Amino acid sequence: MTVPAPRAGVLEISPYVGGESDIEGVENIVKLSSNENALGPSPRAVEAFGRMASSLHLYPDGASDELRAAIGEVHGLDPDRIVCGSGSDELLSLLSHAYAGPGDEVIYPEHGFAMYPIATRAAGAHPVVAPETDFTTDVDAILAAVTTRTKLVFVANPNNPTGTYISGDELVRLREGLPESVLLVVDAAYAEYVGRNDYADGRELVEAGGNTVMTRTFSKIYGLAALRLGWAYCPSNVVDVLQRVRGPFNVNAAAQAAGVAAIRDAGYVQFSRAHNDKWLPWLTDEVRAMGFEVLPSVGNFILIRFPDVEAAFAALQSHGVIPRRVAGYGFPDGLRITVGREEDNRAVVAALGTLVS
Ligand SMILES: *Cc1c(COP(=O)(O)O)cnc(C)c1O
Repeated sequence: MTVPAPRAGVLEISPYVGGESDIEGVENIVKLSSNENALGPSPRAVEAFGRMASSLHLYPDGASDELRAAIGEVHGLDPDRIVCGSGSDELLSLLSHAYAGPGDEVIYPEHGFAMYPIATRAAGAHPVVAPETDFTTDVDAILAAVTTRTKLVFVANPNNPTGTYISGDELVRLREGLPESVLLVVDAAYAEYVGRNDYADGRELVEAGGNTVMTRTFSKIYGLAALRLGWAYCPSNVVDVLQRVRGPFNVNAAAQAAGVAAIRDAGYVQFSRAHNDKWLPWLTDEVRAMGFEVLPSVGNFILIRFPDVEAAFAALQSHGVIPRRVAGYGFPDGLRITVGREEDNRAVVAALGTLVS
């Protein structure tokens, strides 16, 4: 029997594998596999979500007006240049479909976020992988990979799963080295966690021209991963394109309501950030002291490389901890672990300690 064939490229996609969420036979698991906020969302966001229960029969605001206004106010950005999406994943997908297709090339770094190859191939475009240096985005390598077919460049800053970042100056150098016709997408999913004064989330590049987009998410520090909510800050020409290709009601009403409450709760973001500022270095130092290699992360997670990754995985699981395997990201010997609550982080260290004692 003949069945309909999908367009070229689709069957070359390796489906996204999310973080595992259970261990057979273990009840109190600690899920540190998806970089979620270990402290959960702001109570105000939970409350706003609850209030939506009485109006589930109503379509959401298709323009996400209140949410865009709140984001604009909190970040000092023009709401007319913000487009919301069902997770930033949706926006990355829409951008690749709108700007790249068969015969086009999309560049991203070697250990870049898994959505980039998926979004590229789904659009029928050809993925081009730029090597990294010291597990960090290499601007020169990206620029060297540019051809006349290049349409789009994805860079996560900081990157997942490495946790490394490039400076604002490097980002500017990247933009300046790219042809004006190439769309640069700066994926700043972990921007709220970064505490380095040479860091930039890309907004200035968005404002400086018509060819850079910054994407952000409510899934990480805002703790709203279940609701699927992200946004893009764009030049007006890109806003115009996204408005044409997005679904008319792509962001659900509960996500919009919770998002407004979450972004206005600056105290909760600070609280989450302070927790990470304390435990990210603690976890990094403790694991390094055991002799394991930890990449220098500025996010809410660390990537650890092990001489025996299976033994490390088993040790963590026996302590109820679920890490993320990152072989698909080019780290067959690595595990990525999200910064958890205090007791979670201590469980990680106790588990790994059994490997060296
Ligand atoms: C988690 C993550 C996202 C996805 O976020 P959603 O808004 O949940 O789709 C995007 N980019 C990077 C680098 C991430 O780690």
